[in-house]
Amino acid sequence: MLSHRDLFDGDAVRAAADLVQRTGARRLEIGYLHDNVPVEHAGWYAQAQYRGARITESDHPGPAEAAEALARRLLQGGQCQHCHRTVALSDQAPAAYVDGHLMEGRRWTADQARAAGTCWWRRIGDRWERGCDGPIPPPAPRVQKKPKRKRGPRRGS
Ligand SMILES: [Zn+2]
Repeated sequence: MLSHRDLFDGDAVRAAADLVQRTGARRLEIGYLHDNVPVEHAGWYAQAQYRGARITESDHPGPAEAAEALARRLLQGGQCQHCHRTVALSDQAPAAYVDGHLMEGRRWTADQARAAGTCWWRRIGDRWERGCDGPIPPPAPRVQKKPKRKRGPRRGS
């Protein structure tokens, strides 16, 4: 049974929106497909955009469920940007080491994921929290930010 409180769990939606931003996705979109049906049959979906790739979670009974499912999908099997371990959700077994992509878009193989260890993530209220506490380790050497491109063409002399 679905209560209105579950249906409009703002925390889950806010946490997903926050996570989408932190993972570098372009936008989070939540919506539904069917009108004139009970709200839990409206076909709620949540969608985020990653460098042209679209990640969609569809057919959920409400916006919070859709947002939560999308957040879990973004997290599960990815790489924690802080400790560089594989992300697993604290209420799930870490069995699912799947081929996937790192949060920043690089390829992440099952072997690499297994070798990296596990960082347990969980949602606390309106924020997804990483499992690794303490000081943040320095970034891996090959991860570097692109310098911002200056306006206008760059020509010699
Ligand atoms: Zn971590």
